[in-house]
Amino acid sequence: MSYLKTLFLHPPSYQGFDGGAGSRYQARREVRSFWYPTWLAQPAALVPGSRLIDAPPDGLTLDDVRPLARQYDLAILHTSTPSFVQDVKVAEALRAENPALRIGFVGAHVAVQRERALAASGAIDFVCHGEFDFTVREVAEGRPLGDVRGLSYRDGTRLRATPPRPPIEDMDTLPFVVPVYARDLTVEHYYIGYLLHPYVSLYTGRGCRSKCTFCLWPQTVGGQRYRTRSVEHVIEEIALARRHFPQVKEYFFDDDTFTDDLPRAERIARRLGRLGVTWSCNAKANVPRATLEVMKDNGLRLLLVGYESGNQSILNNIKKGIRLDHARRFTQDARDLGIKIHGTFVLGLPGETRQTIEASIRFACDADPDTIQVSLAAPYPGTALYDQAVENGWLVRDALVGADGTQQSPLGYPGLPHTEIFEAVPRFYRKFYFRPGKLAALTGEMIRDREVMKRRLREGREFLGFLSRRRAHA
Ligand code: SF4
Repeated sequence: MSYLKTLFLHPPSYQGFDGGAGSRYQARREVRSFWYPTWLAQPAALVPGSRLIDAPPDGLTLDDVRPLARQYDLAILHTSTPSFVQDVKVAEALRAENPALRIGFVGAHVAVQRERALAASGAIDFVCHGEFDFTVREVAEGRPLGDVRGLSYRDGTRLRATPPRPPIEDMDTLPFVVPVYARDLTVEHYYIGYLLHPYVSLYTGRGCRSKCTFCLWPQTVGGQRYRTRSVEHVIEEIALARRHFPQVKEYFFDDDTFTDDLPRAERIARRLGRLGVTWSCNAKANVPRATLEVMKDNGLRLLLVGYESGNQSILNNIKKGIRLDHARRFTQDARDLGIKIHGTFVLGLPGETRQTIEASIRFACDADPDTIQVSLAAPYPGTALYDQAVENGWLVRDALVGADGTQQSPLGYPGLPHTEIFEAVPRFYRKFYFRPGKLAALTGEMIRDREVMKRRLREGREFLGFLSRRRAHA
């Protein structure tokens, strides 16, 4: 089988913009952060002779990537709602460089807004619906677009859609991403503040059983059930990763909710324990202590936990399926066992008031996860939150990010203007981090480890810069 020469590209964007095919909510963050472009690495692994370029972590500009267009027959660009306009400009520049280049867009944004995306520019030949791994492979095989399921394409002046492609059921048919990372990426360029550096992340499954109204991937590309790779398949890939990347200090399982299937999570943990790796994963704040014990005993270092809010009514509004008392108990269990937690909170979800913001700050300080992230509610097209926001007139601005790529506050409520929600973010961070106990814990970590000290000092500078930028924007 011969394949079109294929370039998988996460296009250049705002400086330091974490918007690749692995970032759920694309934005320039408080500290330099980059997720792996795993969603692009997956089809890249299916197309022999292809290349994956992740422009932002590699510091590549449009001038750097434009000449590459001449070397390829097919370019697959990962896009997102915040970066779409910029990504279209990149596609147009590639097309100008090589008029014969076929260009396809992938990602949740185009999976939802298919016709609108195609209509945005003649440089986009097709957009993929939902999961796009095998769709892209078939296009790269040179099949006519009309014969490939799961895409919308331009046919002269008409826009057409092919029949849907069923979701992948046998997840072991997806190839390993690690060889693509090793071939095309520099693992040292990927940072996440709360993960050891360098880290490697990948997925052991797709989809999430929960139905949180704001959450993008399960409602657009992953689905609301957890489709998983076999334990054997996962362990084989981690063993391979260790051979490729002896310098890596931590593996992160970026499944929407790795703990959605507890017996499987325990089975994987036990096998990871035998390999002797340090690892971390996404979890819901309801993992029983017994499972936490198994995971901790087998190398788990940290859990990334979406608490979202410290107000039960808001959790109910967004269908989080979590009780605050359970979340507190879980956090205490993790602390007792020595598992670190990076807790994420969202301000501006439906039902937010001045009082609920203060309740979330209090909850975060009381539960006291090791580190936190505070985001602004982002109504991405394709989510129930977006539909609700449009219906109720909560959308006060279209853009999810500002001119430098940092998050905007697009939602406002009667009695709580969007500016107040925006201003509450730095206040949340200050109240959480500028406490004597928290500052002492962070300083202690730095004293114990020189590498951590170097990173924390850089992140501290970036974080203070973020707080002062926020003040300037407010
Ligand atoms: S539990 Fe997490 S990943 Fe699952 S739908 Fe809710 S926010 Fe999304």
